[in-house]
Amino acid sequence: MSKSNFKFDTLKVRGGYRSSEHNEAVSVPIYQSTAFELGNTERAGRLFSFTDPDPIYTRLSNPTVAVLEERAALLDGAAGAIALGSGMAAVTYSLLNAAGKNGRILSTARLYGGSVDAFDKILPDFGVTVDFVEDADDPESFEKSIFPDTKAIYVEAVSNPNSAVTDLEAVAQVAHRHGIPLIVDNTLATPYLLNPIKFGADVVVYSATKALSGHGNVIAGLVLESGKFNWAGGKYPQFTKPLYFLRDSEDRERSILEVFPATPFTGRIRAIYLNYLGAALSPFDAYLILLGLETLSERVAKQVSNAEKLIRYLESKKDYVLWVKHPYAQNSPYRELAKKYLPKGAGSVFTFGFNGTPKQYAKFLNSVKLFSYHANIGDARSIIINSPTTTHAELTPEQRKQADLAPETIRISAGLEDDGDLIADLEQAFEKAYQ
Ligand code: PLP
Repeated sequence: MSKSNFKFDTLKVRGGYRSSEHNEAVSVPIYQSTAFELGNTERAGRLFSFTDPDPIYTRLSNPTVAVLEERAALLDGAAGAIALGSGMAAVTYSLLNAAGKNGRILSTARLYGGSVDAFDKILPDFGVTVDFVEDADDPESFEKSIFPDTKAIYVEAVSNPNSAVTDLEAVAQVAHRHGIPLIVDNTLATPYLLNPIKFGADVVVYSATKALSGHGNVIAGLVLESGKFNWAGGKYPQFTKPLYFLRDSEDRERSILEVFPATPFTGRIRAIYLNYLGAALSPFDAYLILLGLETLSERVAKQVSNAEKLIRYLESKKDYVLWVKHPYAQNSPYRELAKKYLPKGAGSVFTFGFNGTPKQYAKFLNSVKLFSYHANIGDARSIIINSPTTTHAELTPEQRKQADLAPETIRISAGLEDDGDLIADLEQAFEKAYQ
């Protein structure tokens, strides 16, 4: 069953899977096969020109991965999805796909450090320039920084690590006024808390490494498309140019839009980037994400609740804590936006400012026992980390300032443990740091 009229909690368990197509297996089978029989030369021709979507070779597509893609699309109300080998592949392939040759991308400074680093270190090698808005909270600021060769706006719906909320509807309106798409990294919110396409996003990317899989055992990414953006408007020749390798049975060259009319964005990622840059997701990893998705709502709801309890605790520790950043923190400037975009909760990642010397800061982190100390987020286990010198270490001091990442910042990703145990762990670590 894959009907989109089912509700989220049904789709997360059953969406995209028809057991009758898989020997009636109850759990999605892992198709651990490199290649798939072509059958006959006529069928091979159809498969290799993408006329027939059946699997050929697991770098390009695979039945287990295809269930994940269909399920992910259903969860976000998307027209199509493609799964990739990492969140970074999802980010870079999407930006390359939209920018084409020598295009510009408009973005903000408040992003995952790896994404900002890719803007600097990889995209320019492909002729892509990234511009930054002056004020990510002001849609007018986006308007001012759009050039004739700007091909997309890229934002995080809820930012890593401070959980700043982007006014998606307003930014989408700016993008569409200029005939360009809005690409949204929705990793921190997950489709359980927010569906960016409902608010005008044209493309949604995920690091499925985080809460989507949720158990800290996989590296994966997803790109979804609304199917509504007009790629034929003249600004995006990469979608309209006839290509020899997409020729039909009469040898007529076809464009990406002709071959993938309903899902040109993810179709082009598959035919070009996945095909030639090759960040494919393994079927086993797709299976792990499918398992994780089955409990997405339950996990995220508890993680949001644990995050709120930790925030309240930290806010009560005035001597140790300078500030807390999360839409549910006291005086957060993102409360209203969170009410609109994230009514079920504003996510489980937040930061706080440690009030002490660098030595006490290190002592605190080294004294934490229950929290894991590593670079992931969205895991079933709670995680703590000193973001400025780890996950966001690539940022220059100026970029860190623009990203609102003070040196005293500590990031927490709330997991599923007992909240009292988590609070007791922070309490004993504070006591050790201030001894
Ligand atoms: N996007 C966001 C918001 C992230 O936090 C991360 C990783 O932390 C990525 C993308 C990259 O994902 P991955 O680590 O799966 O490559």
